[in-house]
Amino acid sequence: MKRHIFIYLMFLFSTAAYAFNGLTHQELIKSALDHLDSFVETSQATRQWLGTENTKRGRRIRNLLIRATVDEDYRANIFLDANFHSPFAGAMGKAANIFTTFSHHLNVSIPGTYWEFDGYAYKNTDGTGNDKYLGLPSVSVKGALSNALSSRIHSGFIDDNDIGTYQLEFKGTQQDWQNMFFGNNRASDAVFPPANVPAQLAKDRLMSSPIAKKGRKKVWAETINLASGVFSSQELSRRFWRAEIEGLPQAFDLLGTIFHMTQDLSVPHHTHGIGSYCHEELETLGDTLACGKRVDTSLFDLGIYDENPNYYKCQRLYDPALVETLRTHLPVFSTRPDLSLSNRLKEIAKLTSQWRFGKDPRDEDLVRSVLPNGLVFFEKSCNELLKHKELRSALKVQYNFAVAATVVVFDQIAKEYLKIP
Ligand SMILES: [Zn+2]
Ligand SMILES: [Zn+2]
Repeated sequence: MKRHIFIYLMFLFSTAAYAFNGLTHQELIKSALDHLDSFVETSQATRQWLGTENTKRGRRIRNLLIRATVDEDYRANIFLDANFHSPFAGAMGKAANIFTTFSHHLNVSIPGTYWEFDGYAYKNTDGTGNDKYLGLPSVSVKGALSNALSSRIHSGFIDDNDIGTYQLEFKGTQQDWQNMFFGNNRASDAVFPPANVPAQLAKDRLMSSPIAKKGRKKVWAETINLASGVFSSQELSRRFWRAEIEGLPQAFDLLGTIFHMTQDLSVPHHTHGIGSYCHEELETLGDTLACGKRVDTSLFDLGIYDENPNYYKCQRLYDPALVETLRTHLPVFSTRPDLSLSNRLKEIAKLTSQWRFGKDPRDEDLVRSVLPNGLVFFEKSCNELLKHKELRSALKVQYNFAVAATVVVFDQIAKEYLKIP
């Protein structure tokens, strides 16, 4: 048994983060802001919110949105427990893997059990990804420590901007919720809230948020407890900040939560709820293609990045013409005030889910990818699979799809808040 634990955990600790990586999120929001500044027929509402690019205020607004979008992966708001560890909010390998990313999935490939479409659930994966340790018998979810799952306010990041428990649209009973996340639960039985839930909660909170009468900024360090080895833990001390800007809603930075979820739903694996089959490799390839080379992104784990706006020149995936084509041709991006953010994200996820990854049904040793146009590729490794230029092009489309989605969601929310049609 111990040997098995060891093998499982080695997989976990050798892997990197588990969502579009911080760098790609940073580039996506930068591309979207650029697009809103220069390409899109910018609405009055968006212009009012973003102000002018090359002013102190304009730069402050843009930096705030970049930071808020990236930091979503570092909110330690889901905790696990295991008999070989004290409660932990993630794992540390080459990079930090914070469990909050469990709620960054929206599995539209099958009908949900507890939501119309569930988020990540171990039972819907085959346990061959870096999520396999969830299958270990002693691993449980610590709902009482997790502010996404209970009303407990854990983190300084949240207290000003608490969006509440991720229970919106939950179809189960209170007892189901209790059984999954509290007491003697097993992590392998848990169904985590889907990404559209925190996005919609953040939007609702933003809509009811008053205009800030003066600017303020709060900087703090948070110690995040991570599992780092079979019986060892590690503390990650991470720097956070949030700010309010005079004349904008106090909860303006919750746009970061919304953009982040929107962007993660442009990754195929997040719309099938799987941690395996080149999930991590595809996301790392996003960083590499954006920068034109492999980059060290460890500073993101410490909370250091936007102080160096020119640190990375990584806008190579951004294709303004492609963003415009997607924005103007896909019905999911049309202006529809009747469409809730939650439902729009479901539609976005359905489009993304047309790109599939999995085992080759004829040969277990091969990993396969089927593009939305039906083209099939299979190789012995993700490394080989992701060398195909068709897959790299598809990733570029998904990047620009995420930019278009961010632009559209931003514009819609600005118009709604400001009541400008
Ligand atoms: Zn991911
Ligand atoms: Zn994420």
